Amino acid sequence: MVVEKNSASWQTAVSNISRWLHDQFLENVPLEDRIGRFLASFTQNLDQFIAQYPEKTDLTRPELALLMAVVFLYPAEETADWQQLVKQLLAHAANGKAPSNEALLDLAIAYGCGWQRALAMRDHETEERWHRAILALRIMVEGSLHQTFKLIIPLLPYQISLFSGSIKEWGRFYSNVITLELLNNRCRCGKHKQDCKKKGDSYVCGRACCRDEHQLAAWEPKVCSLQAFVAHSIRGNASSQLKTGALATSMLYPLLNEDSGITVDSVEFKVCGRCSDTAVLQSIAQHQEPKSQGSVMYEGNSCPECDAPANRQTTYHKARKNWILIPYELGGAYEMLDRWRCPRCRNLFPITWTACPICASSTPQRKTNIWVYSPWLQYSDEEEDSR
Ligand SMILES: [Zn+2]
Ligand SMILES: [Zn+2]
Ligand SMILES: [Zn+2]
Ligand SMILES: [Zn+2]
Ligand SMILES: [Zn+2]
Repeated sequence: MVVEKNSASWQTAVSNISRWLHDQFLENVPLEDRIGRFLASFTQNLDQFIAQYPEKTDLTRPELALLMAVVFLYPAEETADWQQLVKQLLAHAANGKAPSNEALLDLAIAYGCGWQRALAMRDHETEERWHRAILALRIMVEGSLHQTFKLIIPLLPYQISLFSGSIKEWGRFYSNVITLELLNNRCRCGKHKQDCKKKGDSYVCGRACCRDEHQLAAWEPKVCSLQAFVAHSIRGNASSQLKTGALATSMLYPLLNEDSGITVDSVEFKVCGRCSDTAVLQSIAQHQEPKSQGSVMYEGNSCPECDAPANRQTTYHKARKNWILIPYELGGAYEMLDRWRCPRCRNLFPITWTACPICASSTPQRKTNIWVYSPWLQYSDEEEDSR
């Protein structure tokens, strides 16, 4: 039989926690710094608190953890039905196994930002979002943005910097925009779920974006941590490797694209006819598109491995999807060019040609355009293409 813990033990725990937090997180420190430190050392905080208040409490450790999180994040000077709030949040924790401290903190932050409020107590106080929880989410978003910048920078050409000005400033600016859109479930990135169909100028959903991972309301604590969810929102996946195709569907991408020109799109590559795998060379000989796997692909004028020069007559030109690039106009080395895509072998070639140089099939009905690496755009790419 479950014995209802009496409200006196909750009251005691609340006042002990409040007092302890007050001593640990001095008010002369800026609020954001206090919140940052609270998030970064949540488990230590909890351990220290328990060590400092060893009096017997019949609250469980998860109850204490959640209580500490909500007392810290709740609007100062206001009070809530803590016991009910903690119970309600605990019900969302992973089923079965004991939830981690971080998982409990996630619940408090998300709830404070408005997540699951429709199911909340009808209490008017709880309907408002908690300022501190919003700051906590912003800190998470900012951290994830900087991780993402670190993943993108190595993919950029040598002299290109991600932003003009301070990367810290941009991180702060983007974290404000993304946090607000995320917690209001109102992303405007223009990306939609795969099954959301286009209807005239808009989409069936009637919204600017309907992707689940761009809305805090869609976070499922049983599926992933809030941190992983945020990473998903920001760069399209939560792993420590950047997936450029996923990045293109992220909340960060439209911002980056507009401010620094970073573009994820298809790029024309040359397939070396000498050092690619036999299977690749066979495909080309049989007038089929070669697979990327086994292809030695390059963008310059000659193969970096064997030095064989690229030649329109003999070198297969292949589209490579989800390539990260910066257009020429924005300081990069890529230019969008018109191409024919051979209806037979899928080779890409300039529209001045009347037949595919590789397989001699005549040109298709429709032009394609694709990004082409043109580092010496001044001299144009005529050298290779006008032969
Ligand atoms: Zn979106
Ligand atoms: Zn949609
Ligand atoms: Zn996820
Ligand atoms: Zn080669
Ligand atoms: Zn062809």
